[in-house]
Amino acid sequence: MSLAYLNGDFKALEECQVSVLDRGFIFGDAVYELIPVYNNKPFQLARHLKRLARSLNEIAIQTPHDDQQWQGIIQSLIDHYEQEQCSIYIQITRGVAARDHAYPKSVAPTVFVMVNPWPTASDTYLTQGLSAVTLEDIRWDRCDIKVTSLLANVMMKQQAVNQQAHETLLVRDGVVLEGSSSNVFVVQAGQVFTAEKNHLILPGITRDVVIDLLQQCSIRLIERAVSIEDLKCADEIWITSSTKECLPITLLNGQAVGDARPGKYWRQVYDAFQTMKSL
Ligand code: PMP
Repeated sequence: MSLAYLNGDFKALEECQVSVLDRGFIFGDAVYELIPVYNNKPFQLARHLKRLARSLNEIAIQTPHDDQQWQGIIQSLIDHYEQEQCSIYIQITRGVAARDHAYPKSVAPTVFVMVNPWPTASDTYLTQGLSAVTLEDIRWDRCDIKVTSLLANVMMKQQAVNQQAHETLLVRDGVVLEGSSSNVFVVQAGQVFTAEKNHLILPGITRDVVIDLLQQCSIRLIERAVSIEDLKCADEIWITSSTKECLPITLLNGQAVGDARPGKYWRQVYDAFQTMKSL
């Protein structure tokens, strides 16, 4: 049985309960973070905690723990878990209050942390790549905050599943912003492009890691708007996230991307990623 953390106590996940009046349940008034764990160590913890603090600040919830306290809670859960590779999920809601849209006064946030098993990545993702579809982005204008209200993402991801694809790439005004749960990179003639950080994308931690690795590999990266035309003539497309790491998209809307095989630039970044994980 896996151990979880709820409002100051460690207990079995099955025993964690929150009120139906919790604003996370009623309004989706909550933020979250997902941190991969390799070799019993949280990966890029400082970056994840920084993003969490920013998300909390953006929705005016006071940070319930400082970085050292978070680290203690996270490490306790990892140490109790049987697998060396897993992920930590943190969710903080505004707390429990009578249903009213305005922020309630003097309410303690609900703080929940659990460990999730690592999804077993299929080898075919690495040898053959994934498929994606494009769809008009139907989300709000604050995609930079990691909020739990993910209904638009859920609906758009389902469109991919309905078409036997793995991910949906989200397009606004002809510009490809990110995936339903990933960031997007495009390679054209040896140059790599990814959308700039702004209010329309989640500032992915894996995106930052991949940008570091590209620099390490001396591969040119340009942060700029990626158009749907860029996608159509891309040699390679990659998606990045904490659970997918960096994976190649080889089929887009039923059409081959490049030569329909995972590309050489992706391979370089993927290998560098695996080395970095093992350090
Ligand atoms: N964009 C969206 C919309 C996401 O949901 C995610 C994953 N949570 C990402 C990008 C990738 O972020 P990260 O690399 O921090 O997992």
